[in-house]
Amino acid sequence: MKKLLLIPLLASGFFFGQNTQDAQALKKISTQILTQGEAYNDLHFLTKKIGNRLSGSPAYEKAVQWGAEQLKKAGAEKIWLQPVKVPVWERGTESLFIKTPSGTWTKMKMLSLGNSEGTQGKDLVGDLIMVNTLEEFNQLKESQVRDKIVFFNYIFRQDFIETFEGYSDAGKYRSSTASLVAKKGGKAVIVRSISTAVDDVPHTGGMHYDEGSKKIPAVALGPLGADRLAQLLKTSKVSAKLNSNCGMKGEKITHSVIGEIKGTLDQKVIAVGGHLDSWDVGEGAQDDGAGVVQSIEVIRTFKKLNIKPKHTIRAVLFANEENGNRGGETYADSLNVKKEPHLFALESDSGGYSPRGFGLAMTAEQSAQVKSWLPLFEPYGIQHINDSYPGTDIIPMKKYGVALAGLIPDSQRYFDLHHSESDVFEAVNRRELLLGATVMTQLIYMIDQHW
Ligand SMILES: [Zn+2]
Repeated sequence: MKKLLLIPLLASGFFFGQNTQDAQALKKISTQILTQGEAYNDLHFLTKKIGNRLSGSPAYEKAVQWGAEQLKKAGAEKIWLQPVKVPVWERGTESLFIKTPSGTWTKMKMLSLGNSEGTQGKDLVGDLIMVNTLEEFNQLKESQVRDKIVFFNYIFRQDFIETFEGYSDAGKYRSSTASLVAKKGGKAVIVRSISTAVDDVPHTGGMHYDEGSKKIPAVALGPLGADRLAQLLKTSKVSAKLNSNCGMKGEKITHSVIGEIKGTLDQKVIAVGGHLDSWDVGEGAQDDGAGVVQSIEVIRTFKKLNIKPKHTIRAVLFANEENGNRGGETYADSLNVKKEPHLFALESDSGGYSPRGFGLAMTAEQSAQVKSWLPLFEPYGIQHINDSYPGTDIIPMKKYGVALAGLIPDSQRYFDLHHSESDVFEAVNRRELLLGATVMTQLIYMIDQHW
């Protein structure tokens, strides 16, 4: 049986020549990172000493300084800050009470959605109506919505295996319902958080108003809070009282952080990154402290192993992914202005969990080549390499013809904590984080060698 198995492996040439060299190099990278990697310690500092860091906040500025220092320590030969103009959104104080049938006001655990305007510190009181889906809402007449607070109780679909599909499916309830409700004369929106957890933790996240829309407040409830409210609304009339100070406070110049190792062969760049900003709750550990420290680990590993890349390897810690993506857009546009050819960009912004795959956005020929490397990556937990969305920070580079890829980690736990107070350092496992950094470094190594 063993002999029979060996024949196709030998015939494929897998154990010989280039493949053997590559396999050995990949093993060296993994041993280096799993035994000497510093990404977990870096993440501890970023999350515990700096904490959450919405772009435009003082904490974000600390993170910029920290990122530049870490890239220097990791061995980047050149480090600079790229100016990025970002929107400044502040939460301020906020509270939501609902009036139960007994007549008492009960406080609900809630978060205003990011970019939402608040109530300017005044009580906004109104009767609640509930819909489960947008289709149900669309059937309501203006007279049914006018002066009401609309509660969208859309439940995260459990039938998808990849939770990112559930996230995409539910995304519009967070991002777009405020303007739809405002159009029919509603006063405010309450959404059920986009969450897979069984708890009462609300999740924030970006929302936007359509052009010309009245900017009514939009807030999220935790899943259990949403269940309680839904239960109440089935049998009784419920009113709500919202008081919040959140809102946009203009714009500000901040920075993305960039560090690189020069290539020996040409001036082409291979970029790897995550976003340095986070939402203003929790510690931004999985989203996206993980991607940041993994990207720094890539630079560190090339230096530690004394790998001299052919192409320039650059780590980019992007500003403002969460509420504007201005960091990603500014970086992409700078390629065009500076005429700086980029061969490839890799992003990690799906959590620091065990790596499972890569999602590619590149030419068919490039994609076929990267997919042919799957056997080399399988020992490190990669099960699939497919064509899919690579990441929000790097997607603006697509229009300049840059080949893109995103790390796909195991997605089962990410939406338990994404954009919430639960996204803390303790939610990250050291080995999973380092294994993610390992396959990222390995992919960058392979592209550098073979492109
Ligand atoms: Zn993110």
